[in-house]
Amino acid sequence: IVVTDGERILGLGDLGANGMGIPIGKLTLYTACAGIPPMQCLPITIDVGTDNTHLRESASYMGLRQPRLRGAAYDALMDEFIEAVQERFPQVCLQFEDFGNHNAFTLLDKWRDRVCTFNDDIQGTASVTLAGLYSASRITGTPLKDMRLLFLGAGEAGIGIGDLVVEAMTEEGLSQAEARSRCWFMDSKGLVVKSRTDLASHKQPYAHDHDPVPTFLDAVESVKPHAIIGVSGMPGTFTAPVLAAMARHNERPIVMALSNPTSKAECTAREAYASTDGRAVFASGSPFAPVTHKGKTHVPGQGNNAYIFPGVGLGVMVADSSRVTDEMFAAAARTLAGTVNEDDLAMGRIYPSLSRIREVSKAIAVEVARLAYERGLARAPRPDDLEAAVAAAMYEPVYPQYA
Ligand code: NAD
Repeated sequence: IVVTDGERILGLGDLGANGMGIPIGKLTLYTACAGIPPMQCLPITIDVGTDNTHLRESASYMGLRQPRLRGAAYDALMDEFIEAVQERFPQVCLQFEDFGNHNAFTLLDKWRDRVCTFNDDIQGTASVTLAGLYSASRITGTPLKDMRLLFLGAGEAGIGIGDLVVEAMTEEGLSQAEARSRCWFMDSKGLVVKSRTDLASHKQPYAHDHDPVPTFLDAVESVKPHAIIGVSGMPGTFTAPVLAAMARHNERPIVMALSNPTSKAECTAREAYASTDGRAVFASGSPFAPVTHKGKTHVPGQGNNAYIFPGVGLGVMVADSSRVTDEMFAAAARTLAGTVNEDDLAMGRIYPSLSRIREVSKAIAVEVARLAYERGLARAPRPDDLEAAVAAAMYEPVYPQYA
């Protein structure tokens, strides 16, 4: 099941019941990318109203014409929903998608250790971005543990990425405090620093000792990051001066403009290459066409969660895992990065071609299922040949008589 309540659809905001395209689309990706049988996929939108007055007043709006349900009544409804789903479909994997920031973190914290669930905006985004950073480090030569990262946006995506990067850096030998000190965040009020009194709890671990910094350009000049990661939903915020500053501080600056859809990207691929003299290692959330700059063609990578969640879901399904863990998302990131070859890197591409997605999803599923067995989370008997079991579970859209 992929479920949304339509409050934060892509970077488009509150679309109420019109958010239904997201669960449908994500489940289509499960089938296309990882061969999850379509008859096992159920899209759900919980209509709790919308605070989008334009929609509420629109004659064609089909959802409830009321302000969003909030507080205890909302929490009780979601609890009832999650419990009912467990009762009806005890082996379900429940993916939360495009919930508003506060509810997303609260629901994940409450349910992640109780049922088989994950939040794709937090954990899936983290995994695909971490994979991109692993690949980018092969181009820049700077290992992940030595990178300084500056995020524009400290919401679900940003903090989710930060948390998984910290876990990965600690695996490379840093303490948690050292790892956190390498991750800097900028939100709509400025750099996330200790002296601020308005920080939500998920941002506080990343509040460092530093003077307040109002603009992103000033933050880049001060932090001198190896990578800037845009997860703000604010287009045009990676300005030419920001990109030029990145190019001054780095031989190969890493620029990830992850906000979706394309119209919300913090910069375009062309802008990233043009303002860094073609030296940027660029990836975006939505697709950009290849760009030729001074005779060299660069292929932007697409940091799309579709590289991760279908494979994770397939692994969970094959092992009948009772939980989806951060360790699985870290393993998925390493596996995805391992599929990037030298030809990809030579073109500046830090993700494999999407044409290889089923092979990629299969590899991720094997690692996720393996972890489920190793950690005692699997409820299905262990197959003798895990790779074969994963391959056999993948739905192929062919009629046997015509195969
Ligand atoms: P969110 O609402 O949880 O967080 C948005 C953050 O951006 C908040 O911290 C907010 O303070 C900050 N922000 C807003 N305006 C800003 C500004 N002018 N300057 C600095 N910070 C600003 O949303 P989210 O779930 O984190 O998603 C954010 C964006 O990331 C969306 O556009 C979404 O499409 C994109 N995203 C991309 C991927 C992907 O490509 N893999 C995955 C998930 C989310």
